[in-house]
Amino acid sequence: MPALFIGHGNPMNTLEQNGYTEAWRAFGQHLPRPKALLVVSAHWYFGATAITAMPRPRTIHDFYGFPQKLFDFDYPAPGDPDLAREITELVKPQWIGLDRDQWGIDHGTWSVLAHMYPDADIPVLQLSINALRPLEYHLDLAARLHPLRERGVMIVASGNVVHNLQTLQWREADLAYDWAERFDDAVVEQLAREPGDILRVLDHADYDLAVPTPDHFIPLLYTAGLAAADKARLEPLLRGHSMGSISMSCFGLGADIELRKDPACAARLPEGVPPDQTNM
Ligand code: ZN
Repeated sequence: MPALFIGHGNPMNTLEQNGYTEAWRAFGQHLPRPKALLVVSAHWYFGATAITAMPRPRTIHDFYGFPQKLFDFDYPAPGDPDLAREITELVKPQWIGLDRDQWGIDHGTWSVLAHMYPDADIPVLQLSINALRPLEYHLDLAARLHPLRERGVMIVASGNVVHNLQTLQWREADLAYDWAERFDDAVVEQLAREPGDILRVLDHADYDLAVPTPDHFIPLLYTAGLAAADKARLEPLLRGHSMGSISMSCFGLGADIELRKDPACAARLPEGVPPDQTNM
């Protein structure tokens, strides 16, 4: 089963059609249909490693200031508590807590799945990002998840290679800063050469600007760790930038799919959404 890293960007992508959302739709239509989705979303970043284990995970609207129709969006995919328990066994001696009533499906997940699997008929589990662990921990945990790919589980990581909200040019949907492009290029090169050594990009001169906080970068480590466990390289499925300092690049492992490489035009932020109140 393929594994994916998706650059998710602005939550308005949920409701819009653009080059990126068309690509996400193509992933859902052309990749093998999974029996379940395990999603590592940048937006479940807290002090523990947990997996959603409820039969009916709720749709979480974890942002402010966006139009009501985004708060009304529902992604009613079922969970899979049995699979959640299986995964906690699989990764031992690493520990994953079963979340029965706290989280659900957040917009890092549903903004993408709304296009990949619009019918919401494939069970979805979310794995949290443990904010207290070093970056190496996430590469190691990813490798432990590797056998799930043989069991028909698609592991989707949703974040952004470059994600700096302080420097956003929020009216410029398709802008890329030079430093954002340089860092994105460096990540593409590293993943094409040796995904297991992805942490080398921490030495890149533009790392601090591209990754001011690790939450959106860490999902990439899961896809890189899966690739390293497979002794495979990671290829970009599509590349692009939005609002100066958000990379929309996506990567696939075992995802044999051809797309237009110049998607352009990520969703614009709606009028009246100040960038300091967004959570994307
Ligand atoms: Zn986000």
